[in-house]
Amino acid sequence: MTGNQPPTTSNQPPATVICGAGIAGVSAAYHLAVKQGVQNVLLVDDRPPLTLTSDKSTECYRNWWPGPGDTMVRFMNRSIDLLEELADESDNYFHLNQRGYVYVTAVPHTAAALHENAQAISDLGAGPLRVHDGRTATPTAYQPAPAHGYRNQPDGADLLLDPALIRHTSPSWPMMRWRRCIRAAAAGSVPNSTACIYWSRPKRTACS
Ligand SMILES: Cc1cc2nc3c(=O)[nH]c(=O)nc-3n(C[C@H](O)[C@H](O)[C@H](O)COP(=O)(O)OP(=O)(O)OC[C@H]3O[C@@H](n4cnc5c(N)ncnc54)[C@H](O)[C@@H]3O)c2cc1C
Repeated sequence: MTGNQPPTTSNQPPATVICGAGIAGVSAAYHLAVKQGVQNVLLVDDRPPLTLTSDKSTECYRNWWPGPGDTMVRFMNRSIDLLEELADESDNYFHLNQRGYVYVTAVPHTAAALHENAQAISDLGAGPLRVHDGRTATPTAYQPAPAHGYRNQPDGADLLLDPALIRHTSPSWPMMRWRRCIRAAAAGSVPNSTACIYWSRPKRTACS
């Protein structure tokens, strides 16, 4: 219900009242009413849905979260499962994708810290970390993230340390001299530095 609309016409008193029609309230209402079959769910707000904060979001998501503990990783894994269910049901009506997050640094010791941090997050359950340094063999070749879609994407993250690979996978950033690069599991951002990229994109991250 918003300030511009009449109250519910049902004679039944609401079984559940949700205050706030942001993404949290709308999602709670959807899951209660549609997924759980709860009757007479009332959503109360004095403004139209999704107009306070939720329509300002960049709409990116990731499961690539540091600790302490694995709470955020598990929470986001579950949330992303729900997102993918909705995308599957709706033929991806809302254009879910998994282009990934990217983290960049030009400072060598920061790159080492990034690597250490990525491994720690991987160990929390965010998926495997694949290191591409051009010297050691990796079980799987680096797969650039497609611009659209979310299916058949590798889970986890990629750390790109091989300059040739970084240049090859980042042709849209030709002025940059890449020396270090990581790509991990999910959404999409544009790096603006010169040496190390940390891409979060596998099965668990995306950005519209
Ligand atoms: C610029 C920006 C970029 C962002 N980018 C991202 C991103 O990339 N990824 C991400 O995950 N998050 C992002 N966020 C955060 C995300 O947008 C918010 O966490 C999310 O929208 C919050 O949703 P909400 O439903 O909790 O709150 P809101 O969307 O703020 O909704 C709260 C609603 O409650 C109503 N309300 C308040 N008090 C009452 C009351 N007493 N009774 C009834 N109704 C009430 C308000 O009118 C409002 O409609 C971003 C936020 C911003 C501002």
